[in-house]
Amino acid sequence: MKRAIKVSKLFDGYEYKDDMIVVFDNKIESITPADSFSQDIEIEDFSNEYILYPGFINTHTHLEFATNRTTLKYGNFVEWLYSVIEHRGDLMNEADDEAMMKCCKEMLNSGITTFGAISSMGLDLQVCKKTPQKVVYFNEAIGSVPSAVDALFSDFKERVTNSKCTTPKDKITPAIAIHSPYSVHPILAKRVIEIAKDLNMPISTHFLESKAERDWLENSSGEMAPFFKEFFNTDRAVNNIQGFLELFDDTQTLFIHCTQATQEELQYLQNKGHTIAHCPRSNRLLGNGRLSIENIFSPLSVATDGYSSNWSLNIFDELRASLMMHSLGDLNKLAFRLIRSVTSDAAKCLRSDAGVLNINRPADMVLVKLPSKIPNDSVALHTILHTQKAERVWIDGEVIN
Ligand SMILES: [Zn+2]
Repeated sequence: MKRAIKVSKLFDGYEYKDDMIVVFDNKIESITPADSFSQDIEIEDFSNEYILYPGFINTHTHLEFATNRTTLKYGNFVEWLYSVIEHRGDLMNEADDEAMMKCCKEMLNSGITTFGAISSMGLDLQVCKKTPQKVVYFNEAIGSVPSAVDALFSDFKERVTNSKCTTPKDKITPAIAIHSPYSVHPILAKRVIEIAKDLNMPISTHFLESKAERDWLENSSGEMAPFFKEFFNTDRAVNNIQGFLELFDDTQTLFIHCTQATQEELQYLQNKGHTIAHCPRSNRLLGNGRLSIENIFSPLSVATDGYSSNWSLNIFDELRASLMMHSLGDLNKLAFRLIRSVTSDAAKCLRSDAGVLNINRPADMVLVKLPSKIPNDSVALHTILHTQKAERVWIDGEVIN
């Protein structure tokens, strides 16, 4: 059903505009300055302190770790990895549909209308079908032992097939994920990337998250060496950094974390058209340092990661953490970039047509309320500082929350 709302301010994905009327059905039909609007239609009025945003996009989370709160060990990446190996089975058993749906609801409350879910086992597929949000469903491939590649690849293909057979089709976008350069054998990675290319699926990979990962990939040494000896009886990394990067040369990929990537590596992957997901709270909790976002010119998305390395999936908690972590540079400019990182830039990372308010784009919209009217040069900052939850959420024009 066609509807119209009047807002005193909106962000269209690129800039703030004052006093606009948005007419929409499941898609946006028009965005017009209020003083030149002439259609004969009832208008719901959200003037004063309300601001309309495109539905927020969280490009990277792990629902299958929904129940972790204090089980996994924080502070050091390799110690965290040991704790994941120890508790992974129990955590995945505990993460039933109810627990994972709670995560979806928590994201929705903060205005997230699209998210990217990394699925290790396929346990989250039913929840992703049920949740009102749009999901880019990243079937994850993992496995570094050559003799297991065939079995892992056939399990992976089955999960991809399952995620393709979902209805409604446009709500779940099947996608693929390579776990990381240290954990995926290049033969498996190549076969998985071929599938993504053939079916034109979005693709993502964790990349250079920790110093330990870097030491292992460069010299097969450092903190990861005893880990690989103990669990995989190997003393050699299966990938080197440049070789791994080149696997993705001709397919746009979302690289997650990149906290330990050099300026040259960041330059290389951006020159190839790739995008980057930045999870500042996860990086801090696992002792992985700060992503140098000042070296990033490609679309950057701020994302929550999962409960495996975070304490909430509220996108505004993540934006506030980003604001504090990147303490140099102009505050208002950073805030504006961060708002883009969960709207128009995040959409580019997931190859989604949402994330902007424009004619013929999906009517995925979020209303937030600020303490008072704020001038456009500081509205991004105050949106990040003062928003705990969305006042109203529309997905495809329907009021969802
Ligand atoms: Zn992750």
